[in-house]
Amino acid sequence: MITITNYVKAESLEQAYELNQKRANRILGGMMWMRLGKGRVQTAVDLSGLGLDTIEENETEFKIGCMCSLRSLELHTGLNTYFNNAIRESVRHIVGTQFRNQATVGGSIYGRFGFSDILTCFLALDSYVELYKGGVVPVSEFVNIERDNDILVGVIIKKDGCRVKYLTERAAATDFPIIACAVSNVGKSWKVSVGARPMKAALVSEVTEIHNSEEAAGFAKKMAEQYTFGTNMRGSKEYRKHLAETLIRRSVISLMEEC
Ligand SMILES: Cc1cc2nc3c(=O)[nH]c(=O)nc-3n(C[C@H](O)[C@H](O)[C@H](O)COP(=O)(O)OP(=O)(O)OC[C@H]3O[C@@H](n4cnc5c(N)ncnc54)[C@H](O)[C@@H]3O)c2cc1C
Repeated sequence: MITITNYVKAESLEQAYELNQKRANRILGGMMWMRLGKGRVQTAVDLSGLGLDTIEENETEFKIGCMCSLRSLELHTGLNTYFNNAIRESVRHIVGTQFRNQATVGGSIYGRFGFSDILTCFLALDSYVELYKGGVVPVSEFVNIERDNDILVGVIIKKDGCRVKYLTERAAATDFPIIACAVSNVGKSWKVSVGARPMKAALVSEVTEIHNSEEAAGFAKKMAEQYTFGTNMRGSKEYRKHLAETLIRRSVISLMEEC
């Protein structure tokens, strides 16, 4: 059980940042993960009064506030139209609707969880996190930065014209993924993100032309070989590698067919 001594509803990001510099204090997202932890939090800092729960779209990008729920990503027409429903696909398996109404984008990305669907999906897009002090950092860099006491203000996804496919394999519908895979493509540029290996999602990319299913299979094999896989209760490393190669191949073929 987690015990919280004080609660502060932040009036500004600066106030939240100052409070978050103390090790015993914590930023609250949806508290869906944090509440399962143990220990004492001296001051829990709530960002919900700062208007950070919106998804803004303009001609060049989407800007997703850290307090947006996973459910709002799932339902956002602009995001899902632009990214071929890949974002909806990456969150719709997570536990249940009530849960996704609570869990936030900030908590999900800041946590950099090894099983994260949404991190896997964002990584294949031209995406950035906006940190209060750290500024705008590509998600591909952020994923490897050690956790610190900054605040994740939001996520920016550029409209780069990519087409993207997101696929996972799960033992049961709402379980954690055994493997998670996102593939995006603009022209000859392909990006592959594989998560739940069971390690944090990582990105590999290649500039190549793929014309048919044989070439797609060869590309998938080459991409899967660049990853390290591990074994846990959900699957062996060999099984995960096999799944990753299969999902990459299916994603590439699906993107080629759509084209
Ligand atoms: C039972 C269960 C099953 C799940 N299954 C899946 C799954 O299948 N796939 C998947 O991808 N995810 C899964 N998740 C993770 C879930 O989707 C959320 O990512 C997770 O709950 C964190 O989001 P939250 O808003 O609840 O964050 P919280 O629990 O509130 O916070 C998580 C951490 O992030 C910090 N934090 C929160 N917001 C910010 C911010 N803006 N800036 C800086 N730090 C911040 C908090 O201090 C805390 O350390 C699961 C979680 C649970 C509990």
